[in-house]
Amino acid sequence: MRYISTRGGDEVSSARAIVRGIAPDGGLYVPESLPVLSRSEVRALADMDYPSRAAMILQKMLPDFTGEELLEMARKAYARFEGDFPCPARELEKTGVRVLELFHGPTMAFKDMALQMLPHLLRSAALKTGEKREIAILTATSGDTGKAALEGFRDCEGTSVTVFYPKGGVSRVQETQMVTSRGENTHVIAVRGNFDDAQTGVKRLFTDEKFIAHMNEKGRVLSSANSINLGRLAPQVAYYFSAAADMLKEGRADWDRPADVCVPTGNFGNILACWYAKRMGAPIGRLICASNANRVLTDFIRTGVYDRRREFFKTESPSMDILISSNLERFLWEIGGAEKVKGWMTSLSRDGVFRLDEKERQILSSDFLCGCADDGETMAEIKRVYEADGYVLDPHTAVASAVLRGLEKDPGRTVLLVSTASPFKFGPVVCLSLGIGLSDPADAFEAAERLKETCGLSVPLPFEELKSLPVRHRAECGKEDMGEAVLAALEGRAG
Ligand SMILES: *Cc1c(COP(=O)(O)O)cnc(C)c1O
Repeated sequence: MRYISTRGGDEVSSARAIVRGIAPDGGLYVPESLPVLSRSEVRALADMDYPSRAAMILQKMLPDFTGEELLEMARKAYARFEGDFPCPARELEKTGVRVLELFHGPTMAFKDMALQMLPHLLRSAALKTGEKREIAILTATSGDTGKAALEGFRDCEGTSVTVFYPKGGVSRVQETQMVTSRGENTHVIAVRGNFDDAQTGVKRLFTDEKFIAHMNEKGRVLSSANSINLGRLAPQVAYYFSAAADMLKEGRADWDRPADVCVPTGNFGNILACWYAKRMGAPIGRLICASNANRVLTDFIRTGVYDRRREFFKTESPSMDILISSNLERFLWEIGGAEKVKGWMTSLSRDGVFRLDEKERQILSSDFLCGCADDGETMAEIKRVYEADGYVLDPHTAVASAVLRGLEKDPGRTVLLVSTASPFKFGPVVCLSLGIGLSDPADAFEAAERLKETCGLSVPLPFEELKSLPVRHRAECGKEDMGEAVLAALEGRAG
């Protein structure tokens, strides 16, 4: 099975697609054709442990890797999750949904499901394509993705990870999470500037020939851990198959009664993985794309017009505050092919807008339903679900739950609500929604204590530890000195 760029040409193997991340023409790698699992193969997943399930799906999608290699990677990756199964499902009787919890990883959000696998895939793919140098990941973060990358790459042989964050521009919990990161190959640097400065600085390093040459001399090659990397997308397909196999076994879904899936969406990566799973034979029915007040995808699915020329809202579900959903390009390619994609992407960057014709819009809306919820609706939903079922949603998952409430239910079908973060990660707003008072309304540690007492939840270990872990990273630099700071960090002169 080969991968091709959404902007035409450039056919490569799965290993090459992972090493490259993005195609040379700026497109994203998509499978030329999707493998389809037989019904008995899907059913058989239910009797396997999670690493075996993941290895089975990944083998179909990434044929350059052997089943044994993938299984070994998955065992390492998912051993870092809390509990005996990394992505369990819970039934909420009154609310009438089944929640797929994807937040039991080290950073308490769904990105761990993929970012724990990516480093192993990347390292192995590099070796397969003849790359022996150390893979040096550089990334700028506004808070969450940086920590997920640090946790994924930590102590992964043949790699290192350096994360820049804006000093004073992330929450106290986020900063603590980053500066206490363990691992011999992790580096965290505070930039005196804002997030844009940090991001622009990293982008500049990727094209700075002197810096690249210097890294090469030291046996290092630069890479990024972007959400458009195939190595992040493929592990996400696996948990949809896993959830489907469990629903089949429990009699909650079947191919003539497929489950509908509702996903809190930002970059369109998670929901795209669900769509791939459906195409690859999982018993999945309607896909519901849930947005917050940044409702560019809701409008797109309803009207066929993608228009980013609009106000940007900072919401209580910050990981969904996105106006350009980069993974959407992969779905657009399925609708229109490379020539159309090129045109649409040109209009989007030139005019901030593109539109589908009526036939294309119908293809889109035959697979996707959509809806959006603002912060007020989201907070009311947290309260409502807690009162009905005693279950505490984080604000991202609550957006999706609120959207579901506005849609007509098909009583014969199970609805899978995809939960992307632990409520502890967003404790203060969760407490506010539930009417739990805090002496410092921004203190996530106090919020965690109160959620524990009031709702009887147990605090996740990665959160509990934060207060006692020693600070290991103290490096700081100006926005002009980021290259020097990376070299110093990698050579053990700082941080
Ligand atoms: C990243 C993220 C999302 C959005 O996922 P996409 O794949 O970008 O659509 C939703 N919720 C949380 C908590 C996230 O971290």
